[in-house]
Amino acid sequence: MKADAVICGAGIAGVATAYQLVQNFGLGRVVIVDPLPPLTLTSDKSTECYRNWWPNAPMVGLMNRSIDLLEEFARQTNNAIHMTRQGYLYVTADPIRLSQMQAEAQLITALGGGPFDFYESGDELRARFPFLTPMSVGGLHARRAGWFSAQQLGAHMLDRARDRGAEVLKGTVLGVETIGDRVGVVTTDAGTVEAPIFVDAAGPMLDEVARMLGTELPVQSEVHIKVAFRDHAAVIPRSSPMMIWSDPQAIDWSPDERAWLAEQSRDDLLGVMPAACHYRPEGGAGSQWVVGLWEYHRIVQEPTWPLPEDPLYPEVVIRGLTTAVPGLSVYRDHLPQPVVDGGYYTKTAENRPLIGPLPIEGAFVVGAFSGFGVMAAAGAGELAAQIITDSPLPDYARAFSPDRYQDPNYLTEISMLTTTGQI
Ligand SMILES: Cc1cc2nc3c(=O)[nH]c(=O)nc-3n(C[C@H](O)[C@H](O)[C@H](O)COP(=O)(O)OP(=O)(O)OC[C@H]3O[C@@H](n4cnc5c(N)ncnc54)[C@H](O)[C@@H]3O)c2cc1C
Repeated sequence: MKADAVICGAGIAGVATAYQLVQNFGLGRVVIVDPLPPLTLTSDKSTECYRNWWPNAPMVGLMNRSIDLLEEFARQTNNAIHMTRQGYLYVTADPIRLSQMQAEAQLITALGGGPFDFYESGDELRARFPFLTPMSVGGLHARRAGWFSAQQLGAHMLDRARDRGAEVLKGTVLGVETIGDRVGVVTTDAGTVEAPIFVDAAGPMLDEVARMLGTELPVQSEVHIKVAFRDHAAVIPRSSPMMIWSDPQAIDWSPDERAWLAEQSRDDLLGVMPAACHYRPEGGAGSQWVVGLWEYHRIVQEPTWPLPEDPLYPEVVIRGLTTAVPGLSVYRDHLPQPVVDGGYYTKTAENRPLIGPLPIEGAFVVGAFSGFGVMAAAGAGELAAQIITDSPLPDYARAFSPDRYQDPNYLTEISMLTTTGQI
């Protein structure tokens, strides 16, 4: 088989890159290799949220571009990607945190984050969002944010890419051989493909695939889980933004529950737990579904499946959300039937993607999409295609290139970061 380019991985990163290459950058034959059906390893496990609200200029730039493209898709397809604009609402019960939020908001707006709503008091906040706890002292509503169907976006890009000559080869990439000093032949368990361009878009296996090219990538993978449940008591309005409780918190377990948790050696759930328990409504006006997330354990490991399980995760998340939305206490003794899934955030230390050339000529990487891959994909695929075809690049390109770690200024910049923007 011969191709103009081989892309290893049919997740949202690989699909977006293939789409851009054939649709807008003139490549003819692009082969995406994956042993799994497209978009099924990590890219269908996401919460499908997007925001341009990031604490540094390159991420704001990339996300603004990506959201522009998402809006264009939404217009072209009569919103087949179900894009909403309900925003992200950061809520706190801590006056100090509230003033930090205000300062961060000014900074992000100055970076291009656009307008936001700031609620200076709990009364103001609850006048707009009456279902929130009276403990809250204010909040910040980031506006260029919401959610969309990542599956629809992926399917749309894959269909268009196929129309223009891209194809998916069911197989696993086993090796990449060079001809002269550039990429030449990609070996898979479904045959070999001769191509001068190879793109590593292998998601959690990004580094494993890079090693086939004799190079390593500075990534690690964190386990992230989410729970969906039916809010059959309609506690959370369907018009709610994504709500992020921005304070650490302790769960108000009853004495019996505390005793039981202690017996189970679950001391991790008995003390103060991390900030950022969050939810969003899922589905349209007629839906009762809510998706909740709370990374109260940080588990970093080699990507393996099945993922580690915490049988208490659904209850812990719903109890954590009850701190922000006291009405959810209706589920205290009757937990709704939960649906749990998850995947890996494969990420760099500073939580920015890797998009750019690898040391072997003709080899590129598009990945380390962490917890922002579906929102970034449209812009990241475009950036990858610009780099691969040697087209003019946007300002943010440099901050995502894998060789950025050789720049001492960049290393100093990231050593001073106080936040990576991860929720
Ligand atoms: C719980 C959770 C919530 C999230 N929420 C959000 C959110 O709200 N918003 C957001 O933007 N992002 C979110 N994300 C992140 C987002 O889902 C990921 O960043 C994104 O899906 C990663 O896409 P990918 O294409 O890089 O990887 P993947 O989707 O994992 O695709 C990689 C593909 O490469 C293939 N592959 C690997 N090795 C080989 C090989 N040797 N040969 C051939 N193929 C290979 C794999 O089979 C796989 O199909 C969330 C993630 C999780 C887990």
